[in-house]
Amino acid sequence: MKVYSFPRGGITINDPAVPQNSSSVVAFLPAISVIPMVQHPGGRAYPIVSVGDLVREGMLIGRGQGPLSANVHASVPGRVIRMVSWKAAGGQNNDALIIRMEGSFEKLGKREEFFPWLGMSAFDLHRTIAEFGIVEMEGSGRPVADMLNSLRNQQGTISLVVRCVFDDPWLAADRLLCRERTQAIAEGAHIMCRAGRMGRIVFALSQGETELGSRLMEEASRWDIPVSLVYTGSRYPQRNQRELELVLRSFGKKENVELGALLMLGPATLAAIHDAVAYRKPILDRYVAVGGSAVRKPQVMKVRIGTRIGEIFAECGGFVDKPRKIASGSPVLGRAVVDLDEPVIKTSYAVFALLEAQAQPRRNCISCGECRTVCPVGLDPEELYKNARAAGRNGTASRKPGISGNDSCHGCGCCDVVCPSRLALSQTILGMA
Ligand code: SF4
Ligand code: SF4
Repeated sequence: MKVYSFPRGGITINDPAVPQNSSSVVAFLPAISVIPMVQHPGGRAYPIVSVGDLVREGMLIGRGQGPLSANVHASVPGRVIRMVSWKAAGGQNNDALIIRMEGSFEKLGKREEFFPWLGMSAFDLHRTIAEFGIVEMEGSGRPVADMLNSLRNQQGTISLVVRCVFDDPWLAADRLLCRERTQAIAEGAHIMCRAGRMGRIVFALSQGETELGSRLMEEASRWDIPVSLVYTGSRYPQRNQRELELVLRSFGKKENVELGALLMLGPATLAAIHDAVAYRKPILDRYVAVGGSAVRKPQVMKVRIGTRIGEIFAECGGFVDKPRKIASGSPVLGRAVVDLDEPVIKTSYAVFALLEAQAQPRRNCISCGECRTVCPVGLDPEELYKNARAAGRNGTASRKPGISGNDSCHGCGCCDVVCPSRLALSQTILGMA
């Protein structure tokens, strides 16, 4: 089996505090759900229910407005008891509907009704994906309908890349989802190809995921669309768009496969596309890896959207001691959780609590060169960091050669991880610090 890896840099991430369970645990249904109107990068969704209204499970409660916005649905049946506003982890203002659970579930515990979709046009598939508010669940939350829009003017071949690359152990939720919902992921890829008129599916899998590869290929053997299987290295940031594209181009050249433009989607997004089209179901829940050194019993949980993060830590046995850092995402690129009442949203793939405090800069750069060794782009993070700091001091901060364009810093954070002086390299280079 040939394994394709990006040519330079990268790091291997090991973390014993990542959940290791072999099947997901279904979290308790939340008595109170917090459903934010912003779970995507675009403008907030406009609430179409009011305080006091009863809502059904899966009912549309917020309508997306404008580009990059997406529809928002109730994840549980209940009554809207309040509307709240708060500052989210990134500093931006957010607001949410608070739903107190009551009434009966229309989908939970019921046999799902399958809607045959093979006869649907690309336009209808696209419209259904938009209607159910499907967003990229492993990334920024970009609406999938918006991605489909951007393919309209694309000339030539387009390949859909199914990104089952686990370069970070905090992708444990994605990995378990792949095992438990292989068929939905594969069918979601087929639906997406039809909706976007894409000519090929590429399953990109981490080396060692051979059983998953066989199962995906078995599902795909029933379709009339060309399919490729590519095994990649597991060094971080192999899953990143740039590094993954590098290895796929190398595969295409070696195997003489015309890939054309690439659209990459992860397994959670594809399973959600499947559920929207085949079951007429919005994103009601998602797999979340819950762990970190402060958590008594790390586990991958299937959690309703809107469940408060404090509740899922409690379901994992609570904390062994007071955590000094709580964040959402991976420890390499995670965002701080300001309040344990913050909810799980469509893009929350992991939450963790650490006993160790956030690394503080300890001293100046000692010119050890470690950051250069790990940069997958071949940049000199030390120099870029010093230039960015100097530009900031002189008030001349602007994008510099090496931090814009194709071979630019993409903020993978490898340099931050290895820097013995614990400097905030990537944030400074990208102008965020
Ligand atoms: S790793 Fe840190 S200390 Fe070493 S050269 Fe890079 S910035 Fe300087
Ligand atoms: S964050 Fe930027 S400079 Fe640092 S290793 Fe990644 S690409 Fe290189």
